[in-house]
Amino acid sequence: MSKGRKSRELKKASQIIHSGQFGDPIFGEVSVPIFQSSTFAFPSAQEGADRFGGRKSGYIYTRLSNPTTRALEDSLATLERGFGAMATATGMAAINTVFLALLDQGSHVVSTDCVYGATRVVLQSEYTRFGVRTTFVDTTDLTNIERAIEPSTRLLFIETPTNPTMKITDIRESAAIAHRHGIPVMVDNTFASPYLQRPLELGADIVVHSLTKFLNGHSDVVGGGIVTAREDLFKRIRRILNVFGSTMDPHQAWLILRGIKTLALRLEKAQENAMRLAEFLNRHPKVTWVTYPGLPHHPQHDTARKQMDGFGSMLCFGVRNGLAGGVVVMDSVGLITLAVSLGGIETLIEHPASMTHTSVPVAEREEAGISDDLVRLSVGCEDFEDLREDLDQALNRIPD
Ligand SMILES: *Cc1c(COP(=O)(O)O)cnc(C)c1O
Repeated sequence: MSKGRKSRELKKASQIIHSGQFGDPIFGEVSVPIFQSSTFAFPSAQEGADRFGGRKSGYIYTRLSNPTTRALEDSLATLERGFGAMATATGMAAINTVFLALLDQGSHVVSTDCVYGATRVVLQSEYTRFGVRTTFVDTTDLTNIERAIEPSTRLLFIETPTNPTMKITDIRESAAIAHRHGIPVMVDNTFASPYLQRPLELGADIVVHSLTKFLNGHSDVVGGGIVTAREDLFKRIRRILNVFGSTMDPHQAWLILRGIKTLALRLEKAQENAMRLAEFLNRHPKVTWVTYPGLPHHPQHDTARKQMDGFGSMLCFGVRNGLAGGVVVMDSVGLITLAVSLGGIETLIEHPASMTHTSVPVAEREEAGISDDLVRLSVGCEDFEDLREDLDQALNRIPD
């Protein structure tokens, strides 16, 4: 039995460190090596034929599989409690690979309305070219899911918590609704990471990740992952991934494997900072509202408690003076970095209305819950007092 498989019996924090490691090291190495090889030699023509035919396991070509990438995939499958996992070039590659595998001409998708921007764009403006339609609904209200399902619905896609509005959908309840209609459920688990939330245990069929965020955790590489609960889904999606070719390269996989080892340490520190910052912001005179799942006034606080092992390190808040107030904060932070992306060890701040969403019409923005005053914070692992001081001085520059 490989060490990877044995790691399934360990506790979560130990799995994060030991999953995916090779069962039989070559030179006794402690860290998985980078197998920087595009192709793998066969000992005989028969062996080549058996590997291609799936009768024997073994490596063939790095677009199809690679030992370093496989180590990352084994780790992801263990952490998410799945049958198997696939690593992809980016998070969007993971999401699109599942869409390509499960949707046909005429298929219909039900999706959380405030999904990641690029996910919304592909569903709304690209898959429509192939006759795939999507209904976007507020999935925090389960009756909206039931109402949106049609005879041609082939996928329920949930993002929870959502980016940047931190809305939380009940995974167990929504999976039960979809399964009553024979529809598979995919969850974008990027914001929580498997350390805090394991959707497959709650009934979801597929989990997707932007590994760029919490799992890698160091803002230095992009990547994506797909984990399935069942073998049939794994085989279907793997076939599509292999021929469409958005697989991950071994060097990228190695960096992410390295990042994952500190996931528990990083998230424990970051979410402790996030809770304290949420409480500080909640009392700040220049802040009008705070949305953090750990605050009891969060509308889905109880759902978060039920399905998450912690409240994470993402939060958003409103500042006085709306758009202008947000710009003042962006231009005044020092230690905190003004940048998109999230889940890194350093704290990042973003103001959608003046940065990422300037081209989105105000009405559409408001509908997605992105008000002019909304500031998003990805809390990192710095000292809490330094973060509090930096936010305080930036907020105090907003004129009354
Ligand atoms: C970043 C992100 C993605 C896209 O991932 P990339 O690695 O940038 O392609 C998808 N979903 C969520 C929730 C994200 O935050």
